[in-house]
Formats: sequence, C-alpha cells, structure tokens
Amino acid sequence: AKELAGNNYCFYTREMNNRTIENVQLENDLYKALEREEFEIYFQPQVDYKEMKLFGVEALLRWNHRKKGMISPEEFIPLAEETGLIIPIGEWMLKNACKQVKNWHDDGFGEFKVAVNLSALQFEQRNFVKVVQSILDETKLPPRLLGFELTENLIIKNKSLTYTTIQQLIALGITISIDDFGKGYSSLGYLKNFPIDTLKIDKSFIRDVEEDTDSSAILATIIHLGQNLKLNVIGEGVETMEEANFLLSKGCHYMQGYLFSPPLSIEEFEKSFLQKDKG
Ligand code: C2E
Ligand code: CA
Ligand code: CA
Ligand code: CA
Repeated sequence: AKELAGNNYCFYTREMNNRTIENVQLENDLYKALEREEFEIYFQPQVDYKEMKLFGVEALLRWNHRKKGMISPEEFIPLAEETGLIIPIGEWMLKNACKQVKNWHDDGFGEFKVAVNLSALQFEQRNFVKVVQSILDETKLPPRLLGFELTENLIIKNKSLTYTTIQQLIALGITISIDDFGKGYSSLGYLKNFPIDTLKIDKSFIRDVEEDTDSSAILATIIHLGQNLKLNVIGEGVETMEEANFLLSKGCHYMQGYLFSPPLSIEEFEKSFLQKDKG
C-alpha cells in the first residue's frame, strides 16, 4: 500500500509539473499573441425574435494560436486576468470591435449595437473611462451603439467604485448589461441602485426549460423582474425553437444563441447577416 501511495505521489507531481510548464508556455505565448496578431473578434448576432430583426452583436474574443489552433476564451481569459494581460488585450478588443461596427454602420448596414465583455481588472483601472472615451473619439462610433457586459460578481465586488464608473460610462452614452444574470449571486439589491439597461439571462436557466418546470418557473420570474424594473431582457444560449417560443410567450423577445447563429468571423457575419441589405 505504501508503494502504491508513493507511485501515486510521483505520478501526481509529474503531472503537476507538466501542467505548470504548459501554463508557463501558454503565458509566454499570450504575451506575444498581440504583436503576432493572433487575436480575432467573432460576432454573435442578437436578434429580436418577434420582429425577426438583428438588433446587436456580442463581440467575442478568439485566440488563433500559431501551433495549437483556436484556444477557447474560457481557457486563456483567466490566464490573461492573472497576468494583467487582459488590460492591453481588452483594449485591443474594444478598439477593434468599435472600429468594425463603425465600418458596418458607415457601409449602410443599418444600426445595430455592439456588446463588449469587460473583466474586473479592466474596469478597475483608474483611467478606464478615459481609455473608453479616447477609443470612441478615435473610432467615431456613436456611444449609443456600444454596450458593456459586466457580471454580477464584478458589481458586487466593489460597489462604490463600480457605481461611479458605471455613472461615468452612462454619461458618455454607453449602456450596461448584466451578463450571466442569476448564475452567481442571489443579491438583487444592486438592481435598484445601478443604472443598468439590460439583463442577460444565463443560459443555464434556458436549458431544459421544456422538461423542467422549476427552470421554467425561474425563467418566467427573471423575465418578470426585468420587465418590472423596466430593463431589457435578453435570453442567452437559445438553442431550440421550444426555448425561443417559451421566452417569447413570457414577453422576452431579445435572444442570442445557436438557434440563430454561433459567433461568426467578420467574413461569415457579413455573408450571413449583412449581404441582403447591401446597396
Ligand atoms: P459569455 O460572455 O457568457 O459569452 C457567451 C458564450 O456562450 C460564448 O462563448 C458563446 O459562444 C456561447 N454561446 C452562444 N450561444 C450559445 C448557445 O446557444 N449554446 C451554448 N452552449 N453556448 C452559446 P465563448 O465565445 O467561448 O466565450 C466564453 C466566455 O469568455 C464569455 O462568456 C466571456 O465570459 C469570455 N469572453 C469572451 N470574449 C471576451 C472578451 O473580449 N473579454 C472578456 N473579459 N471576456 C471574454
Ligand atoms: Ca457576455
Ligand atoms: Ca453570458
Ligand atoms: Ca432544451
């Protein structure tokens, strides 16, 4: 038994070392990814299901690693946050997302908003609002076409800083959405005080809504809550017609999910969503 434990221990540390080495390697590559231009922005359509109209896009970061191929943001965003690299990467993301949507706007594809995800670290930067302001100035994107997605955790973490920053962003004309709503905290108090525009219902509530009556009760309640607070509500991760129709029946007609489209590259997005209106 002793021998076995010893072996297990060896195996365990070797695996740990491998993992650490791999992580250091990935971290090194992450440092270089910006200058190597390995990042790309994908856009996922947000649709008004009632009007069958595109009203916005969510910008989602993609890392096309020269050797490993596409790496999921679930994997590299935490690393970028640990190392502080999320600051320059996030700035690149914001600038290029604004630039792209301004281009589409100028090309006559009609008005639709772009939603950009923010990490706490970016948001907590002392000059963050100035950075945003200068990106808006540089790209000339009308601020009403820019929205930020924040998680509840970010808001709860430092309420007074967050409150001040959100006020300043709103003064610029930007709107704020709560991402993954319902997933983390059960504290609803901040909804009363924060000038929030939109709730994005976490996809875990939308999944199984046809089979699971608890899920559908919670979902209906969240939609009601948003409506009573006069907030826009977006259902996220909508994959089936049943889910879409359930949301619609409860009065939530803004949706995003694979049913409509996965996140798309610029070329794919133009082909599928902008071609028809060109002229
Ligand atoms: P998120 O902000 O909640 O983004 C939605 C995620 O759900 C995206 O994953 C999207 O591809 C996926 N999704 C969309 N529709 C469906 C669906 O119908 N079913 C399912 N199962 N999934 C769907 P993605 O692109 O892998 O991004 C993962 C997370 O990485 C994002 O979650 C966000 O938290 C983070 N992230 C992505 N881009 C950025 C960024 O630029 N900055 C920051 N700070 N975080 C980002
Ligand atoms: Ca998001
Ligand atoms: Ca989300
Ligand atoms: Ca389902």
